[in-house]
Amino acid sequence: MQKQFNINLLGHSITIEQTNLVHEFDKVGRASSHVNKLMIAQDVPDSCKNETLLHEVIHFISYKLGLELNESQISALGCGLHELLENNIATIQDLYTTTNESQ
Ligand SMILES: [Zn+2]
Repeated sequence: MQKQFNINLLGHSITIEQTNLVHEFDKVGRASSHVNKLMIAQDVPDSCKNETLLHEVIHFISYKLGLELNESQISALGCGLHELLENNIATIQDLYTTTNESQ
């Protein structure tokens, strides 16, 4: 069964689809940035899903902002941001919540 949700980024609503990408295409992620759609595999561990989501989001940002990042730059940024969020998500969420409440 496919799961689908939306995120907002750079003024776009992006559809994230979780599908059986590994089974069907032997891939964990896919970015169709021109149609605001990212696909991530659901048939992999959660840590892989999260890192893949960040990786595909960085592809989207690179495409929309014309950064022309290459695959290894995107992979490195995805890995670094995944580490940051995995180890600090509660602290970052508190920071953003506190910052938004004080505005
Ligand atoms: Zn990639």
